[in-house]
Amino acid sequence: MLSRRNFILGLLTSNLIFNQNSIVTGHQKTTNSGATKQYNGSKDILIIVDVQNDFCPGGSLPVKNGDKVVEVINEIQKSFQYIALTQDWHPKDHSSFSTTNPDIDVFSTKKMPYGNQVIWPPHCIIGSKGAEFHKNLITNKASFIIRKGFRKNIDSYSGFFENDRVTSTGLDGILKELNIKRVFVVGLALDFCVQYTAIDSASLGYKTFVIKNATLPVNIGNSVQETIKNFKKYNVGYGKLEEFI
Ligand SMILES: [Zn+2]
Repeated sequence: MLSRRNFILGLLTSNLIFNQNSIVTGHQKTTNSGATKQYNGSKDILIIVDVQNDFCPGGSLPVKNGDKVVEVINEIQKSFQYIALTQDWHPKDHSSFSTTNPDIDVFSTKKMPYGNQVIWPPHCIIGSKGAEFHKNLITNKASFIIRKGFRKNIDSYSGFFENDRVTSTGLDGILKELNIKRVFVVGLALDFCVQYTAIDSASLGYKTFVIKNATLPVNIGNSVQETIKNFKKYNVGYGKLEEFI
């Protein structure tokens, strides 16, 4: 059996970045009756999905008003002890890029060995400005960063599994080690990486919520309607943070 030390060492040598400065605090919640109760979120984690330059206005795959979620997410971070960031992180010849598939229309789908894959404009290329987090996003409260999509032949929307739905990013192992029971998901984009992260989280047994005012969609075809339908199907809560804590 893997010892705790070896488990952590294993993570450190994989695609994860840990921050030793995680701050652990509770916060006061005011109830409708005016009484305050201490919210102890020791079993909760906030997962901030892909708030990167390329997904914001001016980037190569912008979500309309994508930068507007940054301040909301910064405020929400104050309520959490545990925070994780995901970061889309692609080689420049990634198999999902339109430049790698010149005969296929951008935003159409291509059959890959692991299923249908949307063909995207090149984005979040490893080490590029576009792959950096938005400059106003507070990132120093996060305990760790999950990088995804760095294998050339497979894309990864979810923070938990790559698009073959089998290859793990390691996130589930960390959450189990931390004894996390509830997962709150925010970020970009609602109808792709946020949706897949939330559905995987719920499928893995975490009580899962997507915070509605802290995410926005890229909106391709009926992707938003499908996302809302899937949240109901997988029992993912979708509303404001105050409704869930
Ligand atoms: Zn991507």
